[in-house]
Amino acid sequence: MTTLPERTDLKRIHILDPATINQIAAGEVVERPASVVKELLENAIDAGAGSITVDLTASKESITAIRVTDDGCGISPADAGLAFVPHATSKITTLDDLHSIRTLGFRGEALATIAAVSRVTLVTKIKGSGAVCGTRVIVEGGRVLETTGTGAPDGTSVLVEDLFFNTPARRKFQKGRNSELAHIHDICEGICLSHPAVAFHLSYNGTEQLVTDRTTRPLDTIARLFGSEVIRDLVPVDASLPFLSLSGFVSRPSLSRKDRARMIVSVNQRFITSPAINNAIKEGYGTLLPKDRFPVAFLNLEIDTTLVDVNVHPTKKEIRLSREKEIREMIGKSVRDALLAHDLIPAAGHPAAMMPLDSEPVAAPVKTYNLSPHPGPAAVFECTHAGTAATDQRLRQTELSVDPEPTYLVSSLLPAIEVIGEFSGIYILARTKDDELLLIDQHAAHERILYEQVTGQALEARPSQELISPVVLHRTPGEAAILKDLLPALALEGFILEGFGGDAFLVRAVPVVLGRIEETTIIDEIISDLVSEDAAQAVTNRERITRIVACRGAIKAGTVCTREQCQRIVDQLRRMKNPFTCPHGRPTMIRFTRKELDTMFKRI
Ligand code: ADP
Ligand code: MG
Repeated sequence: MTTLPERTDLKRIHILDPATINQIAAGEVVERPASVVKELLENAIDAGAGSITVDLTASKESITAIRVTDDGCGISPADAGLAFVPHATSKITTLDDLHSIRTLGFRGEALATIAAVSRVTLVTKIKGSGAVCGTRVIVEGGRVLETTGTGAPDGTSVLVEDLFFNTPARRKFQKGRNSELAHIHDICEGICLSHPAVAFHLSYNGTEQLVTDRTTRPLDTIARLFGSEVIRDLVPVDASLPFLSLSGFVSRPSLSRKDRARMIVSVNQRFITSPAINNAIKEGYGTLLPKDRFPVAFLNLEIDTTLVDVNVHPTKKEIRLSREKEIREMIGKSVRDALLAHDLIPAAGHPAAMMPLDSEPVAAPVKTYNLSPHPGPAAVFECTHAGTAATDQRLRQTELSVDPEPTYLVSSLLPAIEVIGEFSGIYILARTKDDELLLIDQHAAHERILYEQVTGQALEARPSQELISPVVLHRTPGEAAILKDLLPALALEGFILEGFGGDAFLVRAVPVVLGRIEETTIIDEIISDLVSEDAAQAVTNRERITRIVACRGAIKAGTVCTREQCQRIVDQLRRMKNPFTCPHGRPTMIRFTRKELDTMFKRI
């Protein structure tokens, strides 16, 4: 039998003193300087501020002081000390109030916990009281050092210095200054976007970092924060549903990112992070975005407060939704409708192409076009020259897969397009009935066509063609190992390879969509792409193989096509589910309106 060691250090259970409790709690609410900025900004907004200033002071290593000044309601002399008492709040009274919460704060913890781990100087004066005198309270490590009357402007200013001076462990775990600044930027951006009616000013060691004006037009705020180029690629979302309304902007498929960092969402004017909502937005894009790309979105949601639980996360950055599935579906559908109601062809990069800043979103019917053949002049058959036969063969390949008039395809996302000509063997020049000039990337367009053709085929049916004479590939040992693992996946896509001793492989068959293989080096190139180390791991092997096949099978940039061939590419593209981007997310076409051209030529 073992005996427990005698514990001489065993202590009696006791209740922690409030200062200690606050230091522990501070670890959750105030994990970093950015959390201080967030809490102080939220207080300023709750105070009804019309203008908020954040001044940061930093040394080489860290942020040394944070001051947030607002012109909100201010705090009375009697309440000023109370603000630092744990769980003292003016925002809720009973638990029930939590179900209809409209303020950003409600726990009464922030000031107490911030002051428990720093030195805070609060200067405040009640707005419109006419009083000359405000109040100054200084609290350090949770101890009130001073409460005095002082001259002060209306509103509140909170200065936080020596953050984590008495919690060395927390101080030690702080990330570097730049990472902290980046976080503060993110928080300020989120709060600016969820409160466009508040003017913000963020400075860092006296230098202006981010400034927004009070506005009723959220696009102005977006332009101020992210530049006016972004605006060109946004379409408005505006939906009013039974217990949910959405407003804001999402990007055309031509503007996407590899991460979710520009999906900025607020719920009931609270800037939050919600994987569920982000997924719902992404779902709205369906096939319009590759799996590993994410849209840019600035969305403000109003959701019935009884369905939103804001009290689930220490820093309140996450929320819990009731009826989440329905809400997700509504968000996805609203995004989808907004996208389809707008022209998704990206505009040319001219300032005149910018969406006017004051444009009011209008509910438009879903924008699709008839798939009937183009009514323009019959395509002229130009004399063919060497090389066009191969292109013809490639185009036939993808035409065959398009049913003559498939019943499910009654409309196209693209307007009727008439090819005018071709430039540089790379771009197709075309026009629409609306007097728009389109520049179409021939390779990207054909790549999209092949990609949708391949992904549309049932897996068992991805046909392969046997090579007349098998090709032998030699790989490095590292590549050979990767390739061995990929063999089954490759076989499903139509590549039949077998080991050929050592690090060599025999290629017996390749997918039919690759067309007639004239140069066997192309097989070597495809396999190299597949085994390359830097291949994006964000997508499945299958997706990667499909993209590579589409890319390699598509008509090369530099291949001169006849006008008739260009028209055939465009006609095929019009049948695609997502004619706007290639499988990697690059645009297939850009658009110049007549008006934009006229502006460029200074005709208007
Ligand atoms: P909470 O925001 O959850 O109420 P805080 O600790 O952040 O808790 O603030 C405590 C109280 O102090 C608030 O309820 C509010 O009455 C007052 N207060 C804090 N900051 C401000 C401010 N900038 N302007 C006016 N009142 C404020
Ligand atoms: Mg608060």
